[in-house]
Amino acid sequence: MTVIFWFRRDLRLQDNKALNSAVRASRENVGVDLLPLYWVKPDAFGQLSGIRQHSLVESLTALDKSLAGNLRVVKFDAAVEFAKLLISLGPSFVFATRAFDPEGIAEQTEVANALEETGIKLVLEDSYYAVAPGTIKKPTDGTPYRVYTPFFNKWFSFGWDAPVKLQEPLVLSNVALPNSEIPSATKTSPFKVRAGEDFAKTTFQRFKEQGLYEYDENRNRADLSGTSKLSHALAHGEIHPRTLLADLRDLEGHNVFRKEIAWREFYADVLFHNPDSLEDYYEPRFKSMKYDVGPEAEAKFDSWKAGMTGFPMVDAGMRQLQSEGWMHNRVRMIVASFLVKDMHLEWLRGAAWFEECLSDFDPASNSHGWQWTAGCGTDASPYYRIFNPILQGYKFDPEGNYVRKYIPELRHISDSSVHEPWLLVDGLANGYPSPILDHSKERDESLRRLEDLKNYYSAK
Ligand code: FAD
Repeated sequence: MTVIFWFRRDLRLQDNKALNSAVRASRENVGVDLLPLYWVKPDAFGQLSGIRQHSLVESLTALDKSLAGNLRVVKFDAAVEFAKLLISLGPSFVFATRAFDPEGIAEQTEVANALEETGIKLVLEDSYYAVAPGTIKKPTDGTPYRVYTPFFNKWFSFGWDAPVKLQEPLVLSNVALPNSEIPSATKTSPFKVRAGEDFAKTTFQRFKEQGLYEYDENRNRADLSGTSKLSHALAHGEIHPRTLLADLRDLEGHNVFRKEIAWREFYADVLFHNPDSLEDYYEPRFKSMKYDVGPEAEAKFDSWKAGMTGFPMVDAGMRQLQSEGWMHNRVRMIVASFLVKDMHLEWLRGAAWFEECLSDFDPASNSHGWQWTAGCGTDASPYYRIFNPILQGYKFDPEGNYVRKYIPELRHISDSSVHEPWLLVDGLANGYPSPILDHSKERDESLRRLEDLKNYYSAK
């Protein structure tokens, strides 16, 4: 007999409650070993970009190594086919971490239903979060929060469990499964991602020693390594947020870092309650706003993707995204604001490009990070936030180092004037483009479209 553990976005051994339950179940039944499985959908995998394929492959390779080469990666496009394989293995139980995003819920429901018909139970436990989405509700009426700060306060007072240690030893199954190797990437990646549970722990350790105490001051500086760079590890579940939270104290840098972890938890909660907001407007009125379409809009979109808008802070971010599969949070907000409020394109287009390019892609954080910036999300702010890409550059890359790092055509400019190269005699000498639009004009246009939207709804 076998107990199966179905790895999902929890590619680690430590602080994995569902895995521990599987280990306990196999130990309680003498002679029952544990079979660790990961399910890949070949069609979906083939459609991922090079960086996304490579990211997943690296994470699976590291997990396989920590399981002494015993991870089986099975390939089926449909959940029912995956369930058939599980049934054929005749397990006493199948354990997995419970997902709360639309795709994860659909998968676990289909698999659970198929297993149930044959009397096998899919035991879903824990979540990818310190507090499971759907838990935190307003005390007044039991509805979910729509605004971050009150969510954070309730989440913080609710608290979370301590990290759990793996119950060793693991007695792993040696059953042979055909075609259960880790898939190879079919596309090239621009960047070699470092992945795995051990690397996540080392990264956190380095951040605790070098970045955490000044995190409150440095996290917005694009030119500094002031953030943890743990987003890939969190997105793939190589480290659980409980493990991070357990090491935080009541100090300014620590408190601000805890709040950032809570943004991830908040967006997962918002998506859980509003599954359509993955690919649709959280604030539906904004669907009726006027957005640009046509060849001119497409040309602008292409310049944005290529990092050729002529706005150095925007272009540096877009080039960092393409070359590293990651972008600094402040710059994500700047480029997102630029796409929606300067180029007047729908947030969905930018979110889809991020989904393709980010090694840390996370459905809830991406859709809601975009919607927050676009103004149609959970932002509690009473005014319509429009980032000025030039001023943001001077503020968050004060010496211009970030821009110079990603835009070779601007490396001949040695100071902060790199943020306005068109003002210099030789600023555009190396082929960097002039700005493709006038920010103040497009800012006014954006506000005008917002006014039109308000008038449309007040007239209704
Ligand atoms: P740190 O500053 O060290 O923060 C620690 C962790 O907290 C992060 O790893 C992340 O898990 C979480 N976190 C921090 N800030 C946020 C935030 N604003 N929203 C949600 N979680 C946060 N994050 C993703 O993980 N995947 C995405 O697909 C993603 N898309 C985004 C799209 C847009 C338009 C914006 C504005 C933000 C997006 N973010 C996304 C959030 C944030 O930019 C990244 O989590 C962060 O830059 C990762 O770097 P870090 O690990 O060094 O962060």
